[in-house]
Amino acid sequence: MPSHVKGEKGTLAIVGLGPGLLEYITPRAMKAVAKAEYVLGHSTYLKPLEPLLAGKQVISSTMGKEVDRAKKAIELARTNHVAIVSGGDAGVYGMASIVLEVLEREGVDIPVEVVPGVTAANAAASRVGSPLSGDFAVISLSDLLTPLDVIEQRLDAVFTLGIPVVLYNPKSRGRPDNLALAIGIARKHLGPGTPVGIVKNALREDEKTLVTTLGAMEQSMDAVDMHTTVIIGGTESRIWRMRDDVKGIITPRGYHRKYVY
Ligand code: SAH
Repeated sequence: MPSHVKGEKGTLAIVGLGPGLLEYITPRAMKAVAKAEYVLGHSTYLKPLEPLLAGKQVISSTMGKEVDRAKKAIELARTNHVAIVSGGDAGVYGMASIVLEVLEREGVDIPVEVVPGVTAANAAASRVGSPLSGDFAVISLSDLLTPLDVIEQRLDAVFTLGIPVVLYNPKSRGRPDNLALAIGIARKHLGPGTPVGIVKNALREDEKTLVTTLGAMEQSMDAVDMHTTVIIGGTESRIWRMRDDVKGIITPRGYHRKYVY
């Protein structure tokens, strides 16, 4: 049964679905999808949602059509309940900003809700221990919307801080060299023993994790693709033995400076 009454105004939810597996989606995100008559999103993100999509109009699209998708969602939301979904958090390299920008530009008065989700940084961090325990920075290596020289400047700035740095969009077919560039910049500021966590498909069925160091990173470049998040530790991060033969990363928050334990 559609939850919508004819003549009633529509609503728009911009929903973060979390990293992949359904159990990491928030109850609020579930509710927003359940309420929607129309669900729009990239096909990869819609796949795990399939059990929730029965009876709904599903508009799946390919990557790179974000502006069209945002416009379509707004057009439909004038008279329907609409959910536009992103993987992870919709506000972190996701659809939230473009949808809000188009809404603002078109001056449309539709009730809009941004529903947060577990972003890749948190998902990946959880799989290798606790590498992001205090301050950390997040940089995307995608130069589709940000010029490469700006990305380089930002990398250089954040690596001087000695805090952990999370790299989103570390590699893709179109830009295979940006990761090597980032590693080169990191090495200018950090020692070769600095831990590096590589998490592919975090909290999805085909997850793979690897912990290495900045000095040995060359051997692991092939483990990184567009479904991977790379965490480069800070000056205080260290490798931790998670289980016998599995390594993780701990970045102490600083309790050792205050307490004996
Ligand atoms: N909105 C998303 C990020 C989209 S950018 C979020 O908040 O997570 C796409 C990049 O996110 C990928 O190239 C990869 O670096 C990272 N990513 C997204 N989901 C991931 C997952 N499950 N495991 C590892 N990395 C992921």
